[in-house]
Amino acid sequence: MNEFDLIHEYFTWSIKDPNVVLGVGDDAAIFSLEQGYQLVTTTDTLIEGVHFSESTSAKDIAHKSLAVNLSDIAAMGAKAKYFTLAITLPKIDKSWLREFSDSLRQLSGHYEVSLIGGDITRGPLNITIAMIGIVENSKALTRSGARPGDGVYVSGTIGDAGFCFWKLSNGLVPSNQEFKRLNCPIPRIELGLVLKNLASACIDVSDGLEQDLSHILTASSVGAVVEVEKIPISEALLGHINDTNDWSIPICGGDDYELCFTIPEGNEETLKKISKSCNVNITRIGVISESLGLQIKGFKGPRKSYQHF
Ligand code: ADP
Ligand code: MG
Repeated sequence: MNEFDLIHEYFTWSIKDPNVVLGVGDDAAIFSLEQGYQLVTTTDTLIEGVHFSESTSAKDIAHKSLAVNLSDIAAMGAKAKYFTLAITLPKIDKSWLREFSDSLRQLSGHYEVSLIGGDITRGPLNITIAMIGIVENSKALTRSGARPGDGVYVSGTIGDAGFCFWKLSNGLVPSNQEFKRLNCPIPRIELGLVLKNLASACIDVSDGLEQDLSHILTASSVGAVVEVEKIPISEALLGHINDTNDWSIPICGGDDYELCFTIPEGNEETLKKISKSCNVNITRIGVISESLGLQIKGFKGPRKSYQHF
């Protein structure tokens, strides 16, 4: 099986989107852009040994590669549309590729995003997806709009992926549900699309709540006061926190891919409706302040969110 058979077999499937003029197969892809929209683009790489382990299934690697990119598009309040896949493989393993391809196709079908091109090389396993989304002109949700008095909110529960990672690092066996939170994050696409019309700033929590919220604060030139007790925590993680009195997993653990966002006062009722329509819990964890910096009441530290360097 050569490179081109491989592309044909595993990474070429029919595209329903009429705006895709030319997908996989030429030197580059072509798509039409609807009037009144801006392009929103992001890319993320997943490397074996850094973002997933040798034992992670092809299905989960495909899911996470796509989900982390979708999450960035969600945090911008944009609609995800197209993606490219640059994959480096150590060898051709047909069953691995079938599982990877099926998983990628399934998730991309669910979010109606089209694979329009990519690249294949040989080397240590490495997956880079670049995602393109669209948003109405000037409507994108950025990190820079938070204002003093805005509430600070998060979706879902925080720290579950970090808890799974902590268990693995300590020789414990996570439950299936905990593995799911680490390997198969749910990108909050629907929530991002609705928040676009309401939130003043937004980010996805990929490197730890403390670090990611701080990005909003820096970009917006504001501070925030967050109360540790208000952070939504799953029951399993709460047990661990009660035992250890250590909040560092939800504060500093990464990989949750929930959204953290700020909303001007007086929108509680609207948020309740959004929570219901998007089928995700939304929790207020603090407030934006004029004085700079992030104050986390009830957390002694240390703050050690994820950084590659
Ligand atoms: P070129 O040499 O011109 O860059 P390639 O031979 O790398 O083209 O790729 C041929 C076609 O297959 C291109 O349209 C490219 O976008 C597509 N392609 C290559 N690898 C992948 C992949 N992993 N997933 C999807 N499409 C791919
Ligand atoms: Mg090429």
